[in-house]
Amino acid sequence: MSTRLGKTSRRPLVIANWKMNGSYHTNAELLAQFAPQWQGVHCAEVAICAPYIYLPQVVEVLSRSNIVVGAQDVSQFKLGAYTGEISGAMLVDVGCHYVIVGHSERRAYFAESNRIIAEKFMQAQAVGLVPIFCVGESLERREAGEALATIGAQLQAVIDMVGLGAFKQAVIAYEPVWAVGTGRIATPEQVEEMHGFIRAQLGSIGAGIRILYGGSVKPDNAAQTFALDDVDGALVGGAALQANTFYGICQAADL
Ligand code: PEP
Repeated sequence: MSTRLGKTSRRPLVIANWKMNGSYHTNAELLAQFAPQWQGVHCAEVAICAPYIYLPQVVEVLSRSNIVVGAQDVSQFKLGAYTGEISGAMLVDVGCHYVIVGHSERRAYFAESNRIIAEKFMQAQAVGLVPIFCVGESLERREAGEALATIGAQLQAVIDMVGLGAFKQAVIAYEPVWAVGTGRIATPEQVEEMHGFIRAQLGSIGAGIRILYGGSVKPDNAAQTFALDDVDGALVGGAALQANTFYGICQAADL
């Protein structure tokens, strides 16, 4: 086990976000390569967030591993006449532990407001799922000097709905929109500033909460990001679609 645990007391966490990629066949191939690589006791925790329809497949394949499963979204409603929606209880039913809430692609392409995201956060926790709550600013907001205010408002919307204490059972992912899927990772200074700000917003419980970085994390840049004091792992998109690159990132968090 690592010295990181002693240093921070927060277990490193690396989460794959497969987004809308995969098939039965390619999922089976990817998991058959990755799961044997990630065997045994590790300092870092690893989770895979798969498309809804493949969750039972992923849960089944990983049932004898130490890799945890999550979903990429959840309904803001509990149950009932909401055609096409998937509830938190359904995600628990198929074996999910985590659920991503408020990803920038949901905010941008599906018009998810801070309020809807806060409702999703609440529904997830109501059934025992652990939300991976994503926050991030656009390039426009950053260049206007409004990055901290944007993240502050995204956090506050959830705090207002569920209370600060709810974050004890949540993970936060800082994902600058301009770094997601672009190949442009945030600088250590930018990450450090934002993670420190988020932790400060969480007040007395901040020190115990895992804050991940997301945005173009690759095996060759992961270690420098994970070395930062306030970074507790990563949410990984593109590089999680290949076993070797995802494994490289997980190894970097496992030191
Ligand atoms: C993401 O989708 O959350 C993400 C961080 O993507 P990528 O790693 O491809 O930038």
